[in-house]
Amino acid sequence: MTVALETRGLVKTFGGLTAVNVVDLAIREHSIFSVIGPNGSGKTTFYNCITGFYEPDSGEILFFEKPMTGLPPDQVTALGISRTYQNIRLFANMSAIENILVGEHSRMRANWFEAILLTPRVVREEKAAVEKARQLLNFVGLAGLGDQQARNLPYGAQRRLEIARALASQPTMLLLDEPTAGMNPNETHEMTLFIRRLRDELGITILLIEHDMRVVMGISERIAVLDYGAKIAEGTPAEIQGNPRVIEAYLGSGAASGIKPVVRQLE
Ligand code: ADP
Ligand code: MG
Repeated sequence: MTVALETRGLVKTFGGLTAVNVVDLAIREHSIFSVIGPNGSGKTTFYNCITGFYEPDSGEILFFEKPMTGLPPDQVTALGISRTYQNIRLFANMSAIENILVGEHSRMRANWFEAILLTPRVVREEKAAVEKARQLLNFVGLAGLGDQQARNLPYGAQRRLEIARALASQPTMLLLDEPTAGMNPNETHEMTLFIRRLRDELGITILLIEHDMRVVMGISERIAVLDYGAKIAEGTPAEIQGNPRVIEAYLGSGAASGIKPVVRQLE
């Protein structure tokens, strides 16, 4: 078993608040691993520490056994880790294709001097980048929508475009932050199948923050539960559903209804 991402004793505080409290996690390569927990339990902060938006107070982050704690976001991307955001962060006035090109940019080799002179290499790279962006659009199910402004796309399509942009840097690991938030049941189901395709067809290791328990229980191999920043449980979907501490954490936050549905396998 190869571990893709590992955190050891990760801590992140904001003033007196410990948002991430000594979290140890090991995520197996090519697996779908979910992080769940009540609102404010530190899930997004955990992502922000991994992706270099926040510097952890203490602890270690390793990617395929190589230390990466405290690396800035662009270097994290260069290692092969990409993410989407809980609140969609697209460039609203740019086209779908242009939004993806922003993600590809980190992979292009021409420097600014060549770009100003529009050397053949720049032109060639641009053409290849646009072609790749179109293929990514097709892959995420948005074929033909490349010239639409991002803000004119339906909500579910915007979520897919965010994933296309995250894929543009050719990640081996993808961190999704509530990808089905605000979706209707049909969009949620489609997104769930799509996340599984990312793993099955592209071999991408998936770390998923998700509030919809049917999604979580249906596609995760393992689940970790955060409560007040600390990991209170980890295991398979069946183990997590039967765990009294988990049920209590959700009851305490008034979200108990979310944890009850039993595992429903997706077809
Ligand atoms: P989750 O994603 O599980 O809902 P968050 O990671 O967003 O939780 O937040 C965890 C805790 O950290 C919350 O109490 C939140 O208010 C706090 N927090 C998150 N980001 C910041 C920040 N930049 N400054 C201060 N407090 C923060
Ligand atoms: Mg969050």
